[in-house]
Order: sequence, then structure tokens, then C-alpha cells
Amino acid sequence: MNDQPTFALHGTIPMPRLGLGTYKSKDGPEVTDAVRVALQTGYRLVDTAAVYRNEEGVGEGIRQSGLERHEVFVTTKVWNDQQGYDETLRAAEDSLRRLGLAHLDLYLIHWPRRSRMADTWRALERLREEGLTRAIGVSNFLPHHLDELMQTAEVAPSLNQIELHPRLQQRDAWTATEALGAVVQAWSPIQTGLVLDDPTIAGIADRHGAGPAQVVLRWGLQSGLSVIPKSVHADRIQSNFDVFGFDLTEEEIAAIDGLEAGERTGPHPDQFPGD
Ligand code: NDP
Repeated sequence: MNDQPTFALHGTIPMPRLGLGTYKSKDGPEVTDAVRVALQTGYRLVDTAAVYRNEEGVGEGIRQSGLERHEVFVTTKVWNDQQGYDETLRAAEDSLRRLGLAHLDLYLIHWPRRSRMADTWRALERLREEGLTRAIGVSNFLPHHLDELMQTAEVAPSLNQIELHPRLQQRDAWTATEALGAVVQAWSPIQTGLVLDDPTIAGIADRHGAGPAQVVLRWGLQSGLSVIPKSVHADRIQSNFDVFGFDLTEEEIAAIDGLEAGERTGPHPDQFPGD
């Protein structure tokens, strides 16, 4: 890891606070180039998932970066139709093979499936025990999903990756995640670009000589989140990482907090996958 700010998962595993998202980045040169450029820019965290169908290209980008394995933090996720104990163990092996890695840094349950949650989590605990992943966590878990998981879990999740941006702050899931000692990681941290033309954000950006995406990412970081913006464009990949050289004021943070609108861009975890 280089010297950018980190969280400690399970109390000990360092994870950079800012990473590269890859949802909708196409397998092949598109995602490979994005990952290589990001790692050459200074990113040390890459987020993918089996369902993105780009793990091979992500692995290739890591190799092309020339970095050592231990310098890059790699997250992937088990998809809904592969949940269950045996299925999840197999899914992790498949992801490792596609990525070309011997271990993951973080393996997540992509969406809560209550009918399989306990078995899927038991598989993640075993993968961690066996060293096939260094940390385990969840994604899209609401407080009641976390409660249900903790009824059978031996190890608490170290992270919950949820949709989170100024227009959907999910304070209840945020609080419940942190109460477990887990990190909240924001997916769609710039709301897929939708929040960037908000006049409040634009005004703050002007004051700092920054771009709107930089202001929104800075808000996330200063609020205690991990953020994983996605881009396949080198200039955006670079500017999204250039967010450690300025601070928003308390008033600016409060103004962005005030943009909450309950506006989801993705599915509601109680409705998808729905069991
Ligand atoms: P983001 O909020 O990261 O926005 C990505 C979009 O914004 C892309 O269209 C990108 O376009 C554009 N963009 C990126 N940077 C800039 C910029 N500086 N200025 C203007 N536009 C910009 O959305 P995502 O949904 O991709 O979320 C981030 C990551 O979170 C995903 O890639 C994925 O890894 C993860 N995720 C996880 C989910 C889960 O269920 N666990 C669900 C959804 C996402 P371009 O690429 O053309 O630059």
C-alpha cells in the first residue's frame, strides 16, 4: 500500500479509502486500461464482481500495472444465483481463476438473499479461514439484514457496500454498519454522474477550484466513507483520485448533507433479489 488513507478491516487488514469501480467497464482493453491507469495514478483498490463479467480484464490490468500483488487491494462479490454454502465456495474459486489471483482481499455477498444468507456467510467465513480472502463483508444490507446475519455469524462483516451519495445517504444502514465496527463503502458515490450538476455542489466546487465529482468524493471521504468511483476515462480516473489536497468546511459538508432526497439509482434491497 502507498501512503493514502486506509481503513483497518477486521481491525487489522488495511484497505485504501478510495478505489476504482468497474461496473459496466467492458472486459478486455476497456477495463484493463482503466485498472492499469488507475494503479499507475496511485489507486490501490479495485472493485469488481462476478456479475460484471470483467474479472479477467481486471486481473490483466493489475498485472500490466507492474505492482506487486500485496500492493493492490482486490474486492469481488458472489452473485445472487451462486449463493449457498457449496455454490459460494465454487464461485470464489471461479473468481480467483478469472482474476488470476491466489487470494482476494475482500469477498462480499453482493445482495442479501435471506433464504441463503446463513449458508453463504458460513462459506465466506471458511474462505477467510483458509486464506482465500483476507476479509469478508456484505453489500446492499439494510439494518434488518445485518441483524439477521449476526444471528448466525461467527465473524462480523468488515464492510457493507451500499448505494450512497448526497441524494441517498442511507443513514440508518450507515449507522447499523458502523455499530458492527464495519466500514461503509459507497457505491455510485457520484450517483452515476446525476448529482454533478446540482447548484450547491457547483458553488462549492467553484470556491475550491475543484470539479463537482471531486467535491462529492471529498464529502464522502470527510464523512467517514470509503468511495469507489467508476470511470474508463484516464482524465476522470486521475481527477477522481486528486481529492486529498483540499478540505470542505463544516458548513459545506452540512450543505451537501442537506441534499438528501431519498433518490435511489439502483434497486431496493428488500425488492431485489427479493427472497
Ligand atoms: P459512479 O457514481 O461511480 O459513476 C460512474 C459514472 O460516472 C460513469 O458513467 C462514469 O463515466 C461517470 N464519471 C466518472 N467520473 C466522472 C467525472 N469525474 N465527471 C463526470 N462523470 C464521471 O457509479 P457506479 O454505479 O459505477 O458505482 C461505482 C462502483 O460501485 C461501480 O463501478 C461498482 O464497482 C460498484 N457498484 C456496486 C454495486 C453493488 O450492488 N454492490 C452496484 C453498483 C455499483 P465514464 O466511465 O464514461 O467516465
